[in-house]
Amino acid sequence: MDYIIFCDHCGMPKPIVEHIMREYFWIAQQVYCNNCEKPNQIPKYLQELSLEMHKERNDKSD
Ligand SMILES: [Zn+2]
Repeated sequence: MDYIIFCDHCGMPKPIVEHIMREYFWIAQQVYCNNCEKPNQIPKYLQELSLEMHKERNDKSD
C-alpha cells in the first residue's frame, strides 16, 4: 500500500511507497516535492506510523 502527501506549496500529490515509509520517514523531518522541489514537513501521524512499521519489521527479523 502506498501513502500520499500533498505538497503545501503547489498541492501536487506525492506518493510514498511502503519501504520509504518504513526505512526513511521515521528519521526524516521533511520531504521534497517532485514538482516544485520545496520541502514539506512530514505529518506527525505518518512519522508515528513509519516508526511502528519500522519496529514491526525489526521484530520479525529476530
Ligand atoms: Zn510542490
